[in-house]
Amino acid sequence: MIYFAPKYYERFKCIADKCKHSCCIGWEIDIDDDSLDAYDMLDGPYADVIRYSIMESEPPHFGLTKEGRCPHLDENGLCKIITEFGEDLLCDICTEHPRYYNETDRGMEVGIGLSCEEACRIIVTSDDFNEYIILGEDDEPIKEPDLQPLPARDEIIEILSDTKRDHRKKYEDFFYVYGEDPDSFNDKRCRNIIENLEYLHEENEERFMNYSFDSEVPKDLEKPMERILAYFVYRYFSVSEDEGDMFESLGLAVFCERLIASIVVAEKVTDIEGLIEIARTVSEEIEYSEENVRYIRKKYSYD
Ligand code: SF4
Repeated sequence: MIYFAPKYYERFKCIADKCKHSCCIGWEIDIDDDSLDAYDMLDGPYADVIRYSIMESEPPHFGLTKEGRCPHLDENGLCKIITEFGEDLLCDICTEHPRYYNETDRGMEVGIGLSCEEACRIIVTSDDFNEYIILGEDDEPIKEPDLQPLPARDEIIEILSDTKRDHRKKYEDFFYVYGEDPDSFNDKRCRNIIENLEYLHEENEERFMNYSFDSEVPKDLEKPMERILAYFVYRYFSVSEDEGDMFESLGLAVFCERLIASIVVAEKVTDIEGLIEIARTVSEEIEYSEENVRYIRKKYSYD
């Protein structure tokens, strides 16, 4: 099976000490079995530091410091496991973040998640989301699903990348092509969803309650918003196993995009940096929570 990704993927590189929202702060990192074995075999003073930092839970994880930081994050924002032993000794979660994988009938789709500040910057500023690159190949067979959602997704991505259609027309065509009723994103319904989400940072609920479907971002931010919508469609559409799944995926995509636009308008954001920070926050609150993703999808299901 081949592994492929949107072209912008090749430009991603963790910015480490320059990251203002490091994924090494606030998250307990679970350790996979192979990494655990490797840490057991290590020699040297820092090997003991690594072993002492592992909490024997199920699964085992690195215990955070009282400031909520990964114990291996040094004062310069660099990972001491890398500086002492190299990247090969990172556990799977640290190696993979912020990548995600979706198995499709064309092969394994790979992407980078919007919750990572650098990935977010690349997604929001890149026009090559409709071009794909091959990352590699393995011997695994390609799955053969009953439903093939990718041609429909291609159509949506094509609309969003079309340079001849203006922003408003793209969104009209988007709704027309997949047949979702714009009214299912009405303010009352969506604010009710927002009230029932779980939050990492409680203050975000108030910000999210600014949801307004008709929010029109400043002209300079229209294209970045189209790229954000393309990201959500790319990420969630391909795993659809039936038509109901497709509607749920698109419901989630539109809900997240409209939420970001609403906060941009409510907070009078006019620059790309402000948009990037709002998109990252929405992703962190929604995409980091399986519960939230499940809940929103359910709200857009047929039942
Ligand atoms: S959030 Fe992204 S850029 Fe920041 S430290 Fe993590 S992987 Fe690197």
